[in-house]
Amino acid sequence: MVELPHLRCPGCGKHLGPVKARNIPLAEKFEDCLRRCERCRIGATNAKNPAKVRFIQGEKPPEAPKPEVPQQEAAKPEPAPQEPPQEPPQP
Ligand SMILES: [Zn+2]
Repeated sequence: MVELPHLRCPGCGKHLGPVKARNIPLAEKFEDCLRRCERCRIGATNAKNPAKVRFIQGEKPPEAPKPEVPQQEAAKPEPAPQEPPQEPPQP
């Protein structure tokens, strides 16, 4: 069993690992990295020596297109009808 020491994500500073693994694959791409930051899509190569670790930028997930339609209906506030507070029903 090999343990890869923890690293910090160069993007957000999150701790990655430590990771224990029986076999350490050679990481050549983000998906191969055992220590990954899913948020930044940054993976640390599987070197045990932190000085030899490289960081691999994974592909960004396709972002969902945001609807850029201006919400004009919601822009103008409708005055809420003033209702008197309802009295609780008396028993
Ligand atoms: Zn990160």
